[in-house]
Amino acid sequence: MNLLDLTKSELERFCIEHGQPKFKALQLTKWVHNKGVHDFAKMTDIQGSFRDFLSQKLNIYIPKIIQSTKSADGSEKWLFKLKSGEVIESVIIPEGSRITACVSSQVGCAVDCSFCATGNQGFSRNLSLGEMLGQVWAINYLSNVGRVTNVVLMGMGEPLLNYSNLIEFLKYLLLDEAYGLSRRKVTVSTSGIVPFIDRLRVDCPVSLAISLHAANNELRNKLVPINKKYPLEQLMRACRNYQDRAPRKFITFEVVLLDEVNDSLKDALAMSRLIKDYGVNAKFNLIPYNAYSKGVFKKPASEKIKGFQTKLQELGYVTTVRKTRGDDVEGACGQLSGIVNNRISRVGVLEKSEIAGLF
Ligand code: SF4
Repeated sequence: MNLLDLTKSELERFCIEHGQPKFKALQLTKWVHNKGVHDFAKMTDIQGSFRDFLSQKLNIYIPKIIQSTKSADGSEKWLFKLKSGEVIESVIIPEGSRITACVSSQVGCAVDCSFCATGNQGFSRNLSLGEMLGQVWAINYLSNVGRVTNVVLMGMGEPLLNYSNLIEFLKYLLLDEAYGLSRRKVTVSTSGIVPFIDRLRVDCPVSLAISLHAANNELRNKLVPINKKYPLEQLMRACRNYQDRAPRKFITFEVVLLDEVNDSLKDALAMSRLIKDYGVNAKFNLIPYNAYSKGVFKKPASEKIKGFQTKLQELGYVTTVRKTRGDDVEGACGQLSGIVNNRISRVGVLEKSEIAGLF
């Protein structure tokens, strides 16, 4: 049994069931997550006989790093091979004293956003708690960039569709004896799974980012198909409700800018109106589309991106444009992708001509 797969309460139960006080679970957590120790023999404040017992019953399994590629801008993409043989990706983004780990929550993704390389490869399975924690553990203790200061769930997968593991993962990120991050520094990015946004608000309200991409249901249905199930009206109401428990004053709205699809000044205005109409405090993060091998969209010209940003700024929103960091290692947003040989469960990827017909 992998210790990283045990929730905080499961680890406590394990200790109690084996004749140890409950606080031993926290000591173990501290050794493993806070100090990066993966050898029970080195956990000196734990009784020798219990250490021997732990080595017989538990292991600390970190997914194998099979490739680490550094981009010119300092971002690093890591490929992890899971015990199952499947491969996932994480990206490390250093920026001054901030070290952001962009982690995956699923192998592939079923949401199937039309501009996304991960969606294009289909869904295989949810990651376990240990597989999610293993990514942060490895970046913390096996990379030479330093300790992770921020975690964003923007890698492969829709985190809210792996809800129970996500919540336990977040709890470890926030726990002082584990990673000790503040709620502000942990961001769940979602395509808009409304019932789980409502649950996250109650269970573990961390920073929230919404993949918006369009201000009307007609276009959003095409770009983010889950919108057919949870249309913008429901999504915006969930965002408004989330605000009262959110650790930041605003919710981040992400827009992947696609040339001639959603990048006009009219689109910027419509997005701003939508957000105002629902009384949501927002910040925008614009992400120029990154072409990947099967992608059919185009990146807008830089003047258009600038114009879109300026319009939102004039309308009163803090608006950043994400540097396309990691581009050259296929590690930027929307490129966590199909170079990995996961099982592909979905068929019927839209061909270029079909997608062109959508607009
Ligand atoms: S953008 Fe996110 S939710 Fe959409 S298909 Fe890609 S990984 Fe899934």
